[in-house]
Amino acid sequence: MRYDGPIYRPPSEADSLLVQATMGCPHNLCTFCMVYKDGVKFKLRPVAEIKADLIEAAATCGRRVRTLFFPAGNTIAMPAASLAELCRYSYALFPRLERITVYGSSQYIHRKGPDQLKTLSQAGLGRIHVGVESGDDVILTRVKKGATARDHVMAGRMARAAGIAINAYVILGIGGQDRSETHARETARVISEMQPAVVRLRTFVPKINTPLLAEVQAGRFKMLSPHKVLAETMALLSQITTPTQVTSDHYTNYLEVAGQLPEDRDAMLEALRRALRQDESTFRPFFIGTQ
Ligand code: SF4
Repeated sequence: MRYDGPIYRPPSEADSLLVQATMGCPHNLCTFCMVYKDGVKFKLRPVAEIKADLIEAAATCGRRVRTLFFPAGNTIAMPAASLAELCRYSYALFPRLERITVYGSSQYIHRKGPDQLKTLSQAGLGRIHVGVESGDDVILTRVKKGATARDHVMAGRMARAAGIAINAYVILGIGGQDRSETHARETARVISEMQPAVVRLRTFVPKINTPLLAEVQAGRFKMLSPHKVLAETMALLSQITTPTQVTSDHYTNYLEVAGQLPEDRDAMLEALRRALRQDESTFRPFFIGTQ
């Protein structure tokens, strides 16, 4: 099995077979992201090489593989025909395979369009992890996300119509103090329109070697205190109108908020209210992320 450059996977893919399909990220501009900033250029691995890795994995653990993840940062940007070929090939190789997942930014999903997404869905691509981060266009521009709120909504709708589940990532605190209220409101609106299967919450932690860390250190970006992050989470969860699952499966969060919307909304808000009664000094300290 060959890997080149950083290999990241969502926590929910901890038990998945990881077979690298692409390297780096074709966007690589988000000001909060350090993953591929060390110069790893986006590249597609040759399909034959990926198939060779799949064959190797099938020979050693073929019957145990139930979920498969194709790193790296934006594998959805791969030509649909190649990715679909890999999906079909994987289902033929692994008799118990139930799900194939990739990372994909909204702009690349949107560009695929309904027909290519349908091709991918029919080939067995079941889930895309999408970094929505915010639904506020001002924040999306500031952090150089490369996608607008409309791109997020269109990507969500197209993927859903094709039968591919979206897992949407939201970064709490990414708008700083001045846009916290707008961030919560606009992100709730975009999530409600995207209708993702799962919303995965992360809390903004400045990472080494990123432009946003420089903004924080220069005092131009005012981070949210733990209480302000919890209040922002309450505002976000209060305003999401679509049924969806919420999870906080990340070390950056101040509180593990999890449940189904709308059924568990009151319980999640109550947990947040209780956390807000805790002294701020009891939450994790500020740190600069290194991974
Ligand atoms: S699209 Fe994802 S991987 Fe690429 S720079 Fe942005 S956050 Fe990082």
